Amino acid sequence: MSVTHRLTAPAPGWTAATDVVVVGSGVAGLTVALNVRKAGLRAMVVTKAVLDEGSTRWAQGGIAAALGEGDTPEQHLDDTLVAGAGLCDEEAVRTLVTEGPDAVRRLIATGALFDRGEDGEILLTREGGHHRRRIAHAGGDATGAEISRALVAAVRTDPGIELIEHALVLDLLTDTEGHAAGLTLHVMGEGQRDGVGAVRARAVVLATGGMGQVFSATTNPAVSTGDGVALALRAGAAVTDLEFVQFHPTPLWVGPDAEGQLPLISEAVRGEGAHLVDADGVRFMVGQHELAELAPRDIVAKAITRRMQEQGADHMFLDGRHFGAEMWEHRFPTILATCRAHGIDPVTAPIPIAPAAHYASGGVRTDPRGRTSVPGLYACGEVACTGVHGANRLASNSLLEGLVFAERIAADLAGRHAAGELPERTVDVAAARAARPVPLPPSEARAEIQRLMSRGAGVLRSAASMAGAAAGLALIAEQAHSHVAEEKPADPRVETWEAANLLLVATALVAAAAQREETRGCHWREDFPERDDAHWRRHLITTLAASGDPVSTPEEQ
Ligand SMILES: Cc1cc2nc3c(=O)[nH]c(=O)nc-3n(C[C@H](O)[C@H](O)[C@H](O)COP(=O)(O)OP(=O)(O)OC[C@H]3O[C@@H](n4cnc5c(N)ncnc54)[C@H](O)[C@@H]3O)c2cc1C
Repeated sequence: MSVTHRLTAPAPGWTAATDVVVVGSGVAGLTVALNVRKAGLRAMVVTKAVLDEGSTRWAQGGIAAALGEGDTPEQHLDDTLVAGAGLCDEEAVRTLVTEGPDAVRRLIATGALFDRGEDGEILLTREGGHHRRRIAHAGGDATGAEISRALVAAVRTDPGIELIEHALVLDLLTDTEGHAAGLTLHVMGEGQRDGVGAVRARAVVLATGGMGQVFSATTNPAVSTGDGVALALRAGAAVTDLEFVQFHPTPLWVGPDAEGQLPLISEAVRGEGAHLVDADGVRFMVGQHELAELAPRDIVAKAITRRMQEQGADHMFLDGRHFGAEMWEHRFPTILATCRAHGIDPVTAPIPIAPAAHYASGGVRTDPRGRTSVPGLYACGEVACTGVHGANRLASNSLLEGLVFAERIAADLAGRHAAGELPERTVDVAAARAARPVPLPPSEARAEIQRLMSRGAGVLRSAASMAGAAAGLALIAEQAHSHVAEEKPADPRVETWEAANLLLVATALVAAAAQREETRGCHWREDFPERDDAHWRRHLITTLAASGDPVSTPEEQ
């Protein structure tokens, strides 16, 4: 199989070569790079912005692993399977929970400093859905920042790892056998590696993170535009479970036209007794669930969205005025400062909040070694779908997944290298040129795609809402095509490439979500409110048709 579609872009003006090229510099990408080095392979990490600009550094709560006394991988497995609502791949989960504790210990050996008690033992906390204290954290609520700091420091000191920042990867390159042979990318640099170029490699690893930016409200940083999923689709790879997007109930609402990453108002604020209220001050969670504001995240996100729809409002409020100034200052100094920076004082006013896209459970389908359906193309971290999360992610399992499966990819590459099965590859230039160029939407399409997705395929979905989103997305695609026909195409540049990726991923997500006529995990259908195991205890596999449109097919049961 070779790449069937590619982003419209100039031909590469420069080339570079390495053994393994890794796309992305979060927990997943940097862990692959560090580990392939142990097998004597050279690595190149290419990343869209600076090294720590991804979701990893924003992770707050921590990383889950059965490290505590009395805890076992088996119990972690049980909790993960419950959260996944019947769609986890049990073998993948078993891998995660059994290899997880040692992977965390190796991360510590790399230099990550976790919070410890006076006895020197790692402090473990508990989060929703976990029956044990098994969440290791760093710097209180700055776990991701510490992991990122430690991994970035480690890759910077390894001369066998080349780091290219401000490099947007466009598409996969293959050899005549259809094996991954490198990629095309655009570097915003100076000198020899400026503009569009090509990197030749023996294998390619996608670690591009999530796709939260397909929605107008998200906790994900600006780089999370689903590029890896879009690239994989264009390269002929299978993606799966795209419909399972986890929404966080209480990010800060910062205005009707807000775009980009929203600050999180942690669950702990509700845990300490803050109330969710509507504009009239009514506590609408009371009576909806026995735990009221402390009901599971999905229930809270759904109830907030329903109330917003009923009242025609774009946000609700989290009221913690009764905490008083002293408690805000001592218990939640960071959140207090963030709110004040946005002109809201939680001591005297309720905090405006609205649910936002937080985590993509689906992604590029991989086997237990991180291999995708395209030979030589691997994926790990949030861009991948290893089968660990099923229909919903258990809190703090994502950093662990990035770690464990990145190590497995490195082990697979090392094994293939040792067996002489990882030769240098020659790019099939003719095949790359023959791939159909995807017309680029204008950069303004990004905001329109986000609005369509939040309105039609957000927390609450129905056939009608998703038909509206699908029609809007199709119109954007049609306009891009007609602009090419009229010889006034959008310029190929970072904004338009990202818009094209967002459009493809959004279209694929809506198609899958519309097809899944049931409610399961974090996929809530207003018109199909029940879980339907008879028809839907299976995955939807999405690939790209010859037309360039994504097609989702239910897996055999
Ligand atoms: C606010 C927040 C809090 C969270 N809290 C937790 C938590 O407590 N525990 C937990 O387990 N998980 C948490 N998560 C989820 C977790 O942080 C992510 O799932 C995880 O960090 C993803 O790691 P990654 O390496 O796959 O991707 P990322 O860390 O997102 O890195 C992706 C990388 O790919 C690069 N990239 C993307 N596209 C391209 C391209 N086209 N070309 C080149 N480079 C590209 C990006 O620049 C970036 O370097 C949280 C997420 C958020 C947003």
